[in-house]
Amino acid sequence: MENYKMYIGGDFVDADSNERYEVINPYNGEAIASVPRGGVRDVDKAVVAARKAFNEGAWSQMSGEERSELLLKAASILKQRMKEYARLESLDSGGTINKTRADAFLAARQLAYFGEQAANYNNEPQEIQGLMRAGRHFHYLIREPIGVCSQIIPWNFPYLMAIWKLGPALATGNTVVLKPASLTPIMAMELAKIFDEIGFPKGVVNIITGPGDSMGEAMTTHPFVDKVAFTGSTSVGRKIMAKASETMKKVTLECGGKAANIIMDDADLDIAIDGSIWASFYHQGQVCEAGTRLMLPAEGHDSFVEKIVEKLNSAKLGNPLDPEVQFGPLISAPQMNSVLDYIKIGKQEGALLKCGGNRALGKELEKGNFVEPTIFVNVSNDMRIAQEEIFGPVLSVINYKNVDQAISMANDSIYGLSAGVWSANTNRAKNVASRLRAGMVWINEWHILSELAPFGGYKQSGNGREFGDVGLNEYTELKTLYVDDAKTRKNKPWYDMVV
Ligand code: NAD
Ligand code: MN
Repeated sequence: MENYKMYIGGDFVDADSNERYEVINPYNGEAIASVPRGGVRDVDKAVVAARKAFNEGAWSQMSGEERSELLLKAASILKQRMKEYARLESLDSGGTINKTRADAFLAARQLAYFGEQAANYNNEPQEIQGLMRAGRHFHYLIREPIGVCSQIIPWNFPYLMAIWKLGPALATGNTVVLKPASLTPIMAMELAKIFDEIGFPKGVVNIITGPGDSMGEAMTTHPFVDKVAFTGSTSVGRKIMAKASETMKKVTLECGGKAANIIMDDADLDIAIDGSIWASFYHQGQVCEAGTRLMLPAEGHDSFVEKIVEKLNSAKLGNPLDPEVQFGPLISAPQMNSVLDYIKIGKQEGALLKCGGNRALGKELEKGNFVEPTIFVNVSNDMRIAQEEIFGPVLSVINYKNVDQAISMANDSIYGLSAGVWSANTNRAKNVASRLRAGMVWINEWHILSELAPFGGYKQSGNGREFGDVGLNEYTELKTLYVDDAKTRKNKPWYDMVV
């Protein structure tokens, strides 16, 4: 069992309090590692180290090409150790090994992408064209790093979320203090070892562990911090935005979702049925952009649901390390209980349970936080199970009368992270997509993202975008530089107003 240390200012250190806590495998409740239980003083040390590193400029003033080289080196190590990291991520997060292998593959590829961006992204001043009095002055647009970035991430995709945060911040020359979710710190700690091994300048990357509320608040209010990047729940996102306002930090947020998955009457059912299961139950439904509100036309509704139920009844729950297993445990007992509470609420609201509905027990599952894949039908869009994020294996099926009604229900949500439409007619589907208020809309697919394509939410799903050049823009300040070329006093007649 590894006893990890925090990584602050280029040193591996214990918490100021010397306290530690154990990291638990959610499949069997066994301790798999321990990490320091940090606090406000550790946040301060990490922020001071990041501030110093930024101000000294060893990273922020380094050329994009040099930063690129170091990031690509890190990416190639991630690629070599893909198998090992998939296993660690599974043990830590309860993700099935098939999911965590995909994550480990994507983590390496995406860090390499951010590394390439470091070399290519707007590193030269852009001359602004079309000025009045051309030839007498220049205006240049320059992108500069924002400074010290606090980065706070959730437990559902611990490894990928760390890459999505560190990659763009480092590519653009910022220094960072990253805090993984307290339940899933392992891959962030492994990343610290890699950055150290490669020789990133001291204080550029700082990784700290401990409770989210106290440390998170310190990371959000510290006067030396310039930007907060957060992925997590909408309720914490709101708090962060409010706290960060005191010092007017830049804030980007990737928060919750309750995506509508609209099946059109001409959809290819073979794909749409499996696709809807994939959309809502991937990683036991613990996915922010999951398609958790399935909208079906009344015609064909019953057989669509029957087929999903049939498939879910043969789903294999168990040890995430077993490649045959499709459903692992939920992250924690409180998360499991919160999901079971929502199932109770659904019943009380009058929705009809079609399958699942209980904690999954049985020989192997006793020690883990397993919930049966669950489907509610006869859900109306104003029920809590249609409005609130459950973040577990629970699908709410809603009937619609016509496409206009489906769209208006889809948009009747505080969230706007993602949505999906299934139809054999792409033009028809595109028309629906254009009316959906969400940052990511899939046609005949779900969950698939590209690091080239910006991702993020409308409404209370967040602020800002990750990926693509747009994602890097979120980590830069814009400086406009004016260079005079008028040369003579005569060419500056406005001085006459005063002199
Ligand atoms: P959470 O909001 O409880 O915690 C997220 C992170 O914030 C953790 O690191 C936690 O320690 C920290 N934190 C807790 N309280 C804080 C505070 N007061 N100030 C600052 N930081 C604080 O979320 P979670 O339960 O870890 O993750 C699940 C949620 O994350 C879901 O709502 C899900 O939709 C969302 N999520 C969104 C995306 C996205 O890209 N939009 C991706 C993954 C997860
Ligand atoms: Mn864990």
